[in-house]
Amino acid sequence: MKKLTQISIVFFLLFSLILNGQNDLSQIKNKRVLIVYGGWEWHYPEVFATKIASWLEDQKAIVTLSKSTKIYLDEHVMNNVDLIIQHITMSEISELESKALQKAIAGGVGLAGCHGGLGDAFRNNTEYQYMVGGQFVKHPGGQVDYSVKIAKLQNPILKGINNFTLHSEQYYMHVDPAIKVLATTRFSKEHDSWIEGIEMPVVWTKSYGKGRVFYSSLGHNKKDFEIPEVWEIMIRGVTWAAGSKMN
Ligand SMILES: [Zn+2]
Repeated sequence: MKKLTQISIVFFLLFSLILNGQNDLSQIKNKRVLIVYGGWEWHYPEVFATKIASWLEDQKAIVTLSKSTKIYLDEHVMNNVDLIIQHITMSEISELESKALQKAIAGGVGLAGCHGGLGDAFRNNTEYQYMVGGQFVKHPGGQVDYSVKIAKLQNPILKGINNFTLHSEQYYMHVDPAIKVLATTRFSKEHDSWIEGIEMPVVWTKSYGKGRVFYSSLGHNKKDFEIPEVWEIMIRGVTWAAGSKMN
């Protein structure tokens, strides 16, 4: 009888884990998602915004697209949004817009994005970098062949996705030790000998106040978004971050 109880508890825990994982990734319907895009055009911000908007609409999310960070000053939008996806490489943001964005995320709105669109925006804004959890500094060698290693096999964002390789920019980033690293890449000595063997976060999650933050450094151009693993990680990360207010 005692053994049966123990087995029941184990099954209950396993079932809860599976259920929690699924819950995290199945709650995008009816979520209000704001997509803000722009900045350096060779990261194809509009292509990215259109692709992710189309996917979100297929999932019955309520999508608003904006080409300007001025929308962060719209209190009605910011008070009602569940998730902000931003894709603005470099560029600048005003102090007021930046504060409004940080207030929303700290208050429980999710934030998600990839590559330079989230991880190399507003280079002079350190509070922004503190919120995202990392800042791009270099991609040694430009476009190179590299591997992405899944670090958290059981995390719902990566579950079932195997290690993979791609030919793209291998982002070297300054990262916040507070991030939860989900996938990494290892640098060789080919371009900069002193970084040989460095294991760099590629995909992470973190908190900023009450908000969930998701980042992937993958996604330099249109072709990268067609890589099944890259896009799957992106949409799962977006879905997870959209559940931020459920925290
Ligand atoms: Zn790039």
